[in-house]
Amino acid sequence: MGDRPLDLVLLGPVGAGKGTQARRIAEKYHVPHVASGDLLRMHRAQKTELGQAAVSYMDRGALVPDDLVISMIVDRMRQPDANHGVLLDGFPRTLAQARALDDELAEEGRTLKLALYLEVPFDILVERAANRWTCRTCSTTYDYRVNPPRKAGICDIDGGELYQREDDRSDVVSERIKVYLKDTVPVVEYYRERGILRTIDGTRDIDGVAGEIERQLEAAVW
Ligand code: AMP
Repeated sequence: MGDRPLDLVLLGPVGAGKGTQARRIAEKYHVPHVASGDLLRMHRAQKTELGQAAVSYMDRGALVPDDLVISMIVDRMRQPDANHGVLLDGFPRTLAQARALDDELAEEGRTLKLALYLEVPFDILVERAANRWTCRTCSTTYDYRVNPPRKAGICDIDGGELYQREDDRSDVVSERIKVYLKDTVPVVEYYRERGILRTIDGTRDIDGVAGEIERQLEAAVW
């Protein structure tokens, strides 16, 4: 293994396959997978103060305010299992979040190694979200057309119930794509200018995308 810690972000619009790929990368390179959306859904389910503050933003496909999301992620990054690197999925989504991440890493003498950007044409995203089934307990996602669960409605990993997220409805997804274009595309450019962006064709099948990510990672990091 090369130099540690391995700090990575995975960027891409809703339905680009970030969660699916993040789980694989985290397992292969032994870094915790920190998904801001999963953490927010957990807060909602537990009805914490943050969860209650986030509900109305999430349900309409808007971004949860930066200060709330940043402190949630910083807390998570300070857990001992993130000492040796972290794979962020869904964060940062704004320039303010990207700068806060730089500051947090700098405090520990760390810098972001790579930003992996999964690129998928927008027309495919709405369709992917509409076909996405998510495990209520571990957030693994399935698409019955390309990666169906072994048993309909049940997660292969932990037997959890599969459900369709409210915000995967086409009207909410369209809003999420608009927000992505306005707030998150500048983050993609921010990393491109720094020379740490790697663009990956997210239209390939799951193994094809995973292979390309691995190739890019190993070329850049090791
Ligand atoms: P996701 O599961 O990543 O698609 O996130 C679901 C929803 O959670 C988003 O539509 C936002 O409302 C909220 N969310 C997740 N991550 C962030 C973030 N980094 N900044 C602001 N809001 C976020």
